[in-house]
Amino acid sequence: MSSTSTSLPDAKRVGMVSLGCPKALVDSERILTRLRSDGYAMSPDYDGADVVLVNTCGFLDSAKEESLAAIGEAITENGRVIVTGCMGEEADAIRAAHPQVLAITGAHQYEQVVEAVHEHAPPSQGPFVDLVPQPSDTDIKLTPRHYSYLKISEGCNHSCAFCIIPQLRGKLASRRIDAVLREAEKLVAAGTNELLVISQDTSAYGVDTRHEERNWKGAPVRAHMTDLARELGNLRTQSGTAPWVRLHYVYPYPHVDHVIPLMADGLLTPYLDIPFQHAAPAVLKSMKRPANEAKVLARLKNWREICPDIAIRSSFVVGFPGETEADFQYLIEWLEEAQLDRVGAFRFEPVEGAAANNLPNPVAEEVKEERYQRLMKATARISAAKLQSKVGRTLPVIIDAVGDADEDGDIGATARSQADAPEIDGQVLLRNVPSTLAAGDIVSATIEDADDHDLFGVIIPQ
Ligand code: SF4
Repeated sequence: MSSTSTSLPDAKRVGMVSLGCPKALVDSERILTRLRSDGYAMSPDYDGADVVLVNTCGFLDSAKEESLAAIGEAITENGRVIVTGCMGEEADAIRAAHPQVLAITGAHQYEQVVEAVHEHAPPSQGPFVDLVPQPSDTDIKLTPRHYSYLKISEGCNHSCAFCIIPQLRGKLASRRIDAVLREAEKLVAAGTNELLVISQDTSAYGVDTRHEERNWKGAPVRAHMTDLARELGNLRTQSGTAPWVRLHYVYPYPHVDHVIPLMADGLLTPYLDIPFQHAAPAVLKSMKRPANEAKVLARLKNWREICPDIAIRSSFVVGFPGETEADFQYLIEWLEEAQLDRVGAFRFEPVEGAAANNLPNPVAEEVKEERYQRLMKATARISAAKLQSKVGRTLPVIIDAVGDADEDGDIGATARSQADAPEIDGQVLLRNVPSTLAAGDIVSATIEDADDHDLFGVIIPQ
């Protein structure tokens, strides 16, 4: 049943602007799902909306600026705006910039957001409102149907010096394993072929509940990353195959070693997103990073021996206070050795309220910029060489979008390999695809060419 067919003819319409990380996107989906079950309809544009929700990100100062700009645009275009999300914790700053906002709620305050919508755009009363069903296939998804984010916990028990997430979102609070698996099963039954497991610290899943056991399909499973990964890999998509399952935000605790064999066995996508942030011991120490231990390079080597195709993605911060040229050089040499597949980099930016702001020896902006450019150049070269080694191979790819035929009748498609998570990694650009191809299909492609970040290929006829 589509969203329009479940809404009343005169249903109030809610618009949504969702900013920030995939975790915020999942929150937006939950809020919209709940509102629709209350009888609201969704508006794809400002004009048709009775009220606009802006789900903000308040992590970096640049994200706050983006959030304030988005609130301003929604006020100009519509005028009736409710703010939620991480920046909602800074209600004073929002009210100072935009006194017209109707209500402000913080991250994960689903009840409060829904109440605010009820207050400012009361739901249409009709005999069917209480009967509006909420089955799995009517849940609102902001990601395409063929991939879905699966949030397994909230909050974080660490205290990295540059981060205020524990202040914003509290201590680690893991969801029950059976609830997570039930949600994943519903998503897969509704057409998801790729699950993206997210949290603030995926390897810590269940630490707060002492890895509480629950019954799943007649057997006990623990709230633990390894059990979770194995059970997700045992799900079956509509076409009877295992879904792709990616683990994001994994810290390299020793037990991460146990999920690598699941990748070799095909139960888990050979992909790990590990936010290392730096490599130099002195910088990691002053960053107060978790699982900061020396043997990471040896473990990467061991993982690649068990699962040669494993792709490692990571992100790094350059110009952290106190980072010396020698520390930065250590990082570059570490990266040459680590041969990571995908790397994102950020210039250090102070975040209001973060402990790092009080550290001595800030790095000058021009030095930050110069180090950032050097890091990007080095990692682009590593990425290009790694992608070049895939030319000639045949790889499974998932289709994201199929284009229109050109003047010669050729149709192109955008896809991703198992080494590419949506939105953050590269793509596989396919030529001459069959017109029957659809988003979400998983097919085999022969790789014909590569550049620094993307692959180019053609589908193998079945
Ligand atoms: S692990 Fe560190 S960076 Fe990640 S959410 Fe926790 S405190 Fe922030």
